Amino acid sequence: MGHVFRTEEQLMAVDGLRRFLDTEAEPIFNREYRDRFVPREVMGRLMRRLAAHGLVSGVVAPGQGGLGVDWLTSLMLFEEVATTSVDLSAPVLINSFAAQMLQRIAPPPLRDRYLPGLVEGTSFASIAVSEPGVGSNVLEIKARARRDGGHYVITGEKTWISNGSYSDFLICTCRTGEDPRHGLSHFLLDRKEHPYEVREIDKIALNSQSTAQIFIDEVRVPVANRLGEEGAALKNTLALFERSRVFVAAQALGIARRALQEAVRYSTERRQHGKQIAGHQLVAAMLADMATRVDAARLLIHRAARMIESGLPAEMEAAMAKYFACESAVEIARQAVQIHGGNGVTRDFLVEKLAREAIVMPIPEGTTQIQQLIIGRALTGISAF
Ligand SMILES: Cc1cc2nc3c(=O)[nH]c(=O)nc-3n(C[C@H](O)[C@H](O)[C@H](O)COP(=O)(O)OP(=O)(O)OC[C@H]3O[C@@H](n4cnc5c(N)ncnc54)[C@H](O)[C@@H]3O)c2cc1C
Repeated sequence: MGHVFRTEEQLMAVDGLRRFLDTEAEPIFNREYRDRFVPREVMGRLMRRLAAHGLVSGVVAPGQGGLGVDWLTSLMLFEEVATTSVDLSAPVLINSFAAQMLQRIAPPPLRDRYLPGLVEGTSFASIAVSEPGVGSNVLEIKARARRDGGHYVITGEKTWISNGSYSDFLICTCRTGEDPRHGLSHFLLDRKEHPYEVREIDKIALNSQSTAQIFIDEVRVPVANRLGEEGAALKNTLALFERSRVFVAAQALGIARRALQEAVRYSTERRQHGKQIAGHQLVAAMLADMATRVDAARLLIHRAARMIESGLPAEMEAAMAKYFACESAVEIARQAVQIHGGNGVTRDFLVEKLAREAIVMPIPEGTTQIQQLIIGRALTGISAF
């Protein structure tokens, strides 16, 4: 399904990864630690193994210790991880984007110190933008970095920070000036050298990985730990948003694909009215709807990825992929529960967990409404923000 355009090489990479995920990751995330926090040493062990399959390492150039896998192949591998566990895909996503930020905008000494750990899967990063009062509108960021000689003094509160508890370092967006667009800068805080407090957030789903509040209180950070020019944070991250949105879309696709797999299996095993429920036309219609949406989401994701890889502007296409894949995952997971009947709402079957996970996906990396506003603006030239 949806595999017809894969090259031989991509198929081999995906198949090798699938075997690893089925034997090593599936029992951890969907049985042993299901809905429970996976300790750092367990997550770290998996990240090191995933690095060998091109996860995180793939998005980093060979000259900087990575494998330099093409963008589409990276997305295919990432979809596989999310199909097994969206919890496992979350640290892969964050470490991948932190690695790209280090690669693109960090001063070389900072890049050379922190990038290898991400590539090898031995360290964890967090990317801290959101705050209690700042979500969809990042221009309102309050965390402040005040220049003091060769240092900045940073104070602020961040929330919803993926990898927070695991993190060895934090790439934190802070206000360095009053201009909304040109007053934001990025800083790297090393957890040991520039301590920050971390508090885990309990959520409806994705509790096997870390999402945390971060508290930074008058922490002195050297100027050398600034990524990019002062005031350039927004400009430097806008291009990355297109890429990260496509990856979040692929996370939702993974959830949807798994929900479809579970529904197909159940519908061929369960019998009612004298036959397998897959033999009832209305159940077949649900499966057809789910499968069509899964493939449509993947095509939108791959279109955006190809455009990004070719250096074409893809803001609208990335927004469409994120919007469609995430909203479809919610509907597909709901249909999977429906096909499971009463069993679908019990913890004995995976679909109840997938439904809880799906409902999270339209929120991070720009909500569905923000994606719709981006698409609308691209169509008419008129901003409805
Ligand atoms: C699991 C998870 C992981 C996350 N990981 C990270 C992370 O690693 N780093 C990080 O910095 N952040 C992270 N986030 C935060 C995420 O980016 C924000 O939750 C998201 O941007 C939405 O912000 P908000 O929650 O404050 O909602 P709000 O911005 O308050 O939005 C609330 C509602 O209002 C709607 N809305 C807002 N503005 C408009 C508008 N102009 N027009 C129409 N509707 C609007 C939204 O669509 C939404 O429905 C994560 C969130 C989650 C759930």
